[in-house]
Amino acid sequence: MSHWIELDKRYFMDTGHRRLGVTLVRGEGARAWDDAGKEYLDFIAGWAACSLGHCHPIIQEALREQSKRLILASLDVYTIPQIELAELLISSSGLAKIFFCNSGAEANEGAVKLARKYGKLHLNGAYEVISALKSFHGRTLAMVAATGKPEYQAPFTPLPEGFRNVPYNDIAALRAAVGERTCAILLEPIQGEGGVNVPPETYLKEVRALCDERGLLLILDEVQTGCGRTGTLWAYEGFGIRPDIMTVGKGLGGGVPIAAFLANEQAACFGPGDHGSTYGGNPLCAAVAGAVLRFIMKEDLPGNAVRVGSYFRERLLGLQEEWDIVKEVRGRGLLLAMEFTKPIALAMAKACCERGLLLNPIPPQTIRFMPPLIISPQDVDRAVMILDAAIRQIK
Ligand code: PLP
Repeated sequence: MSHWIELDKRYFMDTGHRRLGVTLVRGEGARAWDDAGKEYLDFIAGWAACSLGHCHPIIQEALREQSKRLILASLDVYTIPQIELAELLISSSGLAKIFFCNSGAEANEGAVKLARKYGKLHLNGAYEVISALKSFHGRTLAMVAATGKPEYQAPFTPLPEGFRNVPYNDIAALRAAVGERTCAILLEPIQGEGGVNVPPETYLKEVRALCDERGLLLILDEVQTGCGRTGTLWAYEGFGIRPDIMTVGKGLGGGVPIAAFLANEQAACFGPGDHGSTYGGNPLCAAVAGAVLRFIMKEDLPGNAVRVGSYFRERLLGLQEEWDIVKEVRGRGLLLAMEFTKPIALAMAKACCERGLLLNPIPPQTIRFMPPLIISPQDVDRAVMILDAAIRQIK
């Protein structure tokens, strides 16, 4: 065991992470290197946050330039990178107002606070948020309540009240759950951590219609699906709907911690004193996110996610034809998953890691692909070659 791993095991609470047993020390584009100099193709990419790959020159440049000017101010003053980023996000989403924070969970917390205030103002005090089973919205207490995974909730009861989980892609269940106390529905347009579950277009359209009919807010969690990953800048565009509130994070910062929630004019009901954040929208991270988002749009990375994503999908379907153990390939753009007929997700991720491909296992039987949006078909070919060899070893 390496010195670093020994120290890590000594000092850290064991939350079951570090499953791949690798210590990364450097990254460039879609590649990363460990402390022994071994090279990996990184299809985890900071859990989908490194949208431009590791250490992209435009990120280095934005960090360098902004770190010479102003790193942190406070919400008592105006700062320019934050305003520029707000303008980009608002003009690209069609929403009206924004609040910046530091992580996806925090963005969702803010969105739920906003929905509760809206409930107080417009829905007779309704406060309940309905979310989906198998969803993932973050690890704060309220987001554990919103995240429809009993195993994440059980150790932490009693959870904050005001959350209900219903099956995903089941409009009847959702409709039945809506009551007098409901103020909002919170969904991922495509469930990421839950195994990359893509609903049919009709589902999200029906959810939108249900919200309109009952006067509820539709909150879309685009923390993982946003910023081009699924082939459109925002995944909801691919489903022909628009949310009232949207949360973003991960890929927005290209690796630096920044997130936000946006709302349409009516839903944006926060007033003075309702919310705050010391680091939210700090000039350093906002400057990087502005550079990342401009790059994503200028270089048409959503288009690359479509092109390379469909090539990747085809190659994965090829593996499915070749190997009986591959049950299903699913996803959209560069958010893809492969499900097996047996519980081999962790073994597959480890076998791929040994061969130089970093993959995110979703045990028991699914692996998730969320490579940087800049990957090429050659990167896909290499990943598929490694996957093929790993399946051959493990099946
Ligand atoms: N929402 C979704 C859809 C996510 O995938 C994640 C993280 O995986 C989160 C929220 C939480 O984000 P963070 O880990 O930045 O709090």
